[in-house]
Amino acid sequence: MKNKPLPWHTLLVAIYPPLYLFSQNVERLELAELVIPIPAITALAALSLAVLYLILRDLPKAALVATPAWLLFWYYTDLYWFIEPWKIGDFWIGRQRYLATVLAVVLVAVFFVVWRSRKKHENLTRILNVVAACLVLMAAGTVVSYRVTNARARTATVSTSDMVAFEGPLPDVYYVILDGYGRQDILADLMDFDNSAFIEGLRSRGFYVADKACSNYGQTQLSLASSLNLDYVQALPVHLDPCTDDRLPLNRLYRGGKVFAFFQNEGYSLVSFATGFNPTELLQADIYVTGHSDLTNYQTMLLGQTPLQLMKRFLVERQFDHHRSRIIQAMEQLGAAQVAPKFIFAHLVSPHPPFLFGSEGQLVTDYHKYDMGDGSHRFKRTGMTTDEYIAYYRDQVTYLNTLVLAAVDDVLANSPEPPIIIIQGDHGPGSHLHWESLEDTYLPERLSILNAYYFPDGDYSQLYPEITPVNSFRIILSQYFGQDYAPLPDHSYYSTWEAPYAFSDVTPIVAPRD
Ligand SMILES: [Zn+2]
Repeated sequence: MKNKPLPWHTLLVAIYPPLYLFSQNVERLELAELVIPIPAITALAALSLAVLYLILRDLPKAALVATPAWLLFWYYTDLYWFIEPWKIGDFWIGRQRYLATVLAVVLVAVFFVVWRSRKKHENLTRILNVVAACLVLMAAGTVVSYRVTNARARTATVSTSDMVAFEGPLPDVYYVILDGYGRQDILADLMDFDNSAFIEGLRSRGFYVADKACSNYGQTQLSLASSLNLDYVQALPVHLDPCTDDRLPLNRLYRGGKVFAFFQNEGYSLVSFATGFNPTELLQADIYVTGHSDLTNYQTMLLGQTPLQLMKRFLVERQFDHHRSRIIQAMEQLGAAQVAPKFIFAHLVSPHPPFLFGSEGQLVTDYHKYDMGDGSHRFKRTGMTTDEYIAYYRDQVTYLNTLVLAAVDDVLANSPEPPIIIIQGDHGPGSHLHWESLEDTYLPERLSILNAYYFPDGDYSQLYPEITPVNSFRIILSQYFGQDYAPLPDHSYYSTWEAPYAFSDVTPIVAPRD
């Protein structure tokens, strides 16, 4: 007698979409992200089976109803976005009420067919088990092979043995990254946007603004891994394979950044803020300021797969609200931590999309989904045009400027000793950014940045208009903290999204020297 197959397919089908989503983003997610969702979903799937078993009194039959129900749960939103534009004449059929009704009828029909059937469904159960297991194995295989292939690069760290202990005054240090904040002249040329009031606002408060500054890279993680380790990522002791898009080594380089290590060794408390972007969430900070019930990127993406995504008030607007409050909170509480000395790291995903502030802080929602994509990714996913991008960007910068100047005033007024402040774009805007094509990208936009410095003694003799982020802390650590780092040549590199480590030196294009 053959054993009766147990209907594993329900559990497997329930966890497949979260696993697949993870595998598609494996290059930037930590495995810890799966620790809660996978067991939780498995338990819910088991519960759904148990409830149906109580009704149908047959486990294979219960599974034959539960599995399609889970499929519809995970793919309902995709189906909805697919049919949403459908119309017959003036009659709009792509509405949720119709879709939900049709699908409910389908599920009820499945239920009755299964209920009335007299078969044992053993073969069908076996087939479904095999198919579902293959899907799960493929997704898991992608994750495992990624982790194994790139394991060595991911555990690499940068040594701080070239740094010397420093005894002297320890001013507070603020490193504020305004993601995607472009340079004044480029904003004027490309976006017809006059940002001079803000730049003058910084200068009148004692800042040095480098007005020919470029970024070293066009991507957040490359830029931060470099600036926080005082060197180009190509020069760091980590093999970054040009054939991979695994970004986890960059997370390690960023979190283990030499700059953080130096200040912590000097007795500084590290203060940071929730960013909403996993790779820059600095959870190891001594003081980590987070909004309540913030979701991680992965959790956001996962919820976006479910019908909850369509309950606007419940999810979409909440995500925009969280993003707004993270930015406002970081600016309002920038210097609030009552510790000394302190190193404050604030990465604001703004003016980078999503666009959520009008010029006076009005609530804006630029897309029906919460999506952090920039450049061609955003245009493709949202249908946004370049002109719309620019209009949104200008408004967002305008409001951000008021937050930044208020934060600077607050910090300067409340610092017992004058602090060091860097306010910097990690790269420029993305209105003419093509993620897969250097030729189709307007490089001077993507690689020109806001780059402003406040030094306690106002001695800006080491700074210069073309300074790039790789040199920011080389100069600061040498000038104020007894280190000896000569500035490196300022270079800018473009790389595509799919091959972040296949660098093209585009310095001559973005920073023509005459
Ligand atoms: Zn960025």
